Amino acid sequence: MKITEVETLHLRLPVVQEVADGTQDCLVVRVHTDAGLTGLGEVVSCSYVARAVIDAPRSAPFRHGLASIVKGMEADDIDGISRAMIEGTAWYGPGGVTRQAMSGIDMALWDLRGKAMGVPVRALLSETPVDAVPCYASVLWPQRPELTAESARGFLEQGYRAVKYGWAPMGPDPDLDEALVAAARDALGSEIDLMVDAGRAWDVETALERVERFQKYDVSWLEEPLSPYDTIGYRTLSESSSIPIAAGEALTLVEEYENLLNGGRIQVVQPDLGRVGGITGGTQIAASAQDTGAWTVPHAFGTGILLAASAQWAATFEKPMTEFTRAPSPLAQDLVPHRMRFQDGKLHLTDAPGLGVELDTQVVEAYRVN
Ligand SMILES: [Mg+2]
Repeated sequence: MKITEVETLHLRLPVVQEVADGTQDCLVVRVHTDAGLTGLGEVVSCSYVARAVIDAPRSAPFRHGLASIVKGMEADDIDGISRAMIEGTAWYGPGGVTRQAMSGIDMALWDLRGKAMGVPVRALLSETPVDAVPCYASVLWPQRPELTAESARGFLEQGYRAVKYGWAPMGPDPDLDEALVAAARDALGSEIDLMVDAGRAWDVETALERVERFQKYDVSWLEEPLSPYDTIGYRTLSESSSIPIAAGEALTLVEEYENLLNGGRIQVVQPDLGRVGGITGGTQIAASAQDTGAWTVPHAFGTGILLAASAQWAATFEKPMTEFTRAPSPLAQDLVPHRMRFQDGKLHLTDAPGLGVELDTQVVEAYRVN
């Protein structure tokens, strides 16, 4: 089964707002083969740049996009393709957008392997995967505490067992920050897990002040309070905070994760399969996390492709959990009809081969950027 074409589909809402919602724009990868099977993957990046990393035509050696590198290769040779993409992008790689673009191809190759073998991806990764993965509802903070309470009551009614709020308006005002967390906890009651994503808003001292304020609300983790590369800051914080510290969604290379895990001593690590080199890269990071005792919970704030890949992957973990974005964008909610069934706080996976996802062609046509 040889790769005949790598196709990029760039989708974008007509109006993109300046909020931390990455589901307003996405880059889907379709890998076609001579066996007639097609694999789907997703890149989580600046889509315009990542698209060029895949599509760029060949010029001098090492000055070509990923599609040129992998075309003609055996689709089932996932490790070989991964190595070829790393070596073939030596002039401009291997981290950042290169790794993000590689992720979409890797995800599509795992989808293809599952389709070729007639089994879901989780069965390729483990002999004992679970069929239902606990998930947490994930949205941006509503602008005011009373709106947060309303949102949290909605999640409670829908059966979520864990909820995360993130980014602005959390950040500059300690009283507002505490009021947001208090409103969420009050509405959720004491049984539901609550996570707080600070969206890189603070320095170490400010983060520790917020920990003092938030600890009475039983916060399960405090996510990305600092810049993603502030390893020393993360170490200070992780060693002093009474709330577990989560981070890692912005990184791409396993070496960067090892730095954050070993140097930063974070308790929860959040690789995004659309950034870290897909399932292949994510699995290396999860192994490093196991060495430090950190809990791996995939960051998944994208389309249903990323969600399916994250859930299939997390189904193979000792303590499975995935993010489940409830962002309202049609790219997040409608591009891939959610075939996984949400019930009692879990995503119940299907046994469809590969990732078990298909694109809604009407959504593709409505939002495709040429
Ligand atoms: Mg986050």
